[in-house]
Amino acid sequence: MNMLTTIPTAKDKTLFTPGPLTTSLSVKQAMLRDAGSWHFEFNAIVTRIRGRILKLAGLSRADGFECILMQGSGTFGVEAVFATCIPPNGKVAVLANGAYGERMALMLQHAKIDHLVLRAPENDVPDAVALDYTLATDEAITHVAVVHCETTTGILNPLTALGKVVKRHQRIFIVDAMSSFGALPIDFAAAGIDYLISSANKCIEGVPGFSFVIARRAPLLACEGFARSLSLDLLGQLKAFEKNAQFRYTPPTHSLLAFQQALDELDLEGGVPARGARYQHNHEVLVAGMKQLGFRVYLDSAVQSCIITSFYFPDDARFTFNEFYLRLSDKGFIIYPGKISQADTFRIGSIGRIFESDIRALLAAVSETVTEMGLAMLRK
Ligand SMILES: *Cc1c(COP(=O)(O)O)cnc(C)c1O
Repeated sequence: MNMLTTIPTAKDKTLFTPGPLTTSLSVKQAMLRDAGSWHFEFNAIVTRIRGRILKLAGLSRADGFECILMQGSGTFGVEAVFATCIPPNGKVAVLANGAYGERMALMLQHAKIDHLVLRAPENDVPDAVALDYTLATDEAITHVAVVHCETTTGILNPLTALGKVVKRHQRIFIVDAMSSFGALPIDFAAAGIDYLISSANKCIEGVPGFSFVIARRAPLLACEGFARSLSLDLLGQLKAFEKNAQFRYTPPTHSLLAFQQALDELDLEGGVPARGARYQHNHEVLVAGMKQLGFRVYLDSAVQSCIITSFYFPDDARFTFNEFYLRLSDKGFIIYPGKISQADTFRIGSIGRIFESDIRALLAAVSETVTEMGLAMLRK
């Protein structure tokens, strides 16, 4: 990288990633402030954000739910739930069909929490019948955890069907909805969700800095004394919010200001249904265009979400992801490497402040790159 490329240009490259994402100029501008992190004006913003997240979920405190913000990226929020909410003799069943499910198992291993992993192939959804059998036969299991949209592939796991099994067996249900909350509808009551985790820099189109947990108040309050971590103690954080509307330790002030603006812009767009519809349209234009260029989609369309799409590498020895990536980057487009263990793929996200015109510009750049690299594509 030479010196010139490190000087910011007026327009950043467009991100077709699973987050951090391309954000609006106004979201970025909202950060050009110095907020006193313990000052009442800032505290009021924090309180308002907590309420607005619940409202986005179609919930309120009257329904017995709380929203707790947690410093750090999404992973910190998921880890905070495990660190706080599993009793000393608890056991978690993790449904895994990708890297983020596997990451939950890794967190439990680090926290020395008893757990088992029910794996499904990366291109298939978790098996509700297998879960039913496991919960019927293993009484030690207290909690079930699953990822909603497995960003590893872009697969959408059937929350409500799985949640109904969890609730039939009266276990606590934990959902990582990092890459879906804010764009895809989530029915907390139908799916029996007790804890749901998401973060600032995905479908709400804020910037990184914090995650948030939507928790049923009663089970969370019953977790007194379980916390295995001081900084990731979700109940401790809730108590601080209730005591003085403050984070316990330094909050990501700029990220919260940006988030407030991002929430305004989500409302302006028409809320969750409108945002989901834009992403769905982005995804459809992307897939149609990529197929026309001869690329193949990894997932069956029946399980594919509109959030991010995995494409197989072209079947041509001249293709390397690195060269493909760098050529697209030179043209102003950032795509994402694959994360799948069983297939050579790359990923393209449909989320963030991007529209059909951005997808069409990317497709033109992909087409040019295919020509530059001399790739023999199976054109339809
Ligand atoms: C992004 C994401 C996370 C969190 O990743 P961070 O890098 O910690 O923000 C967790 N789960 C899923 C499904 C995700 O997409």
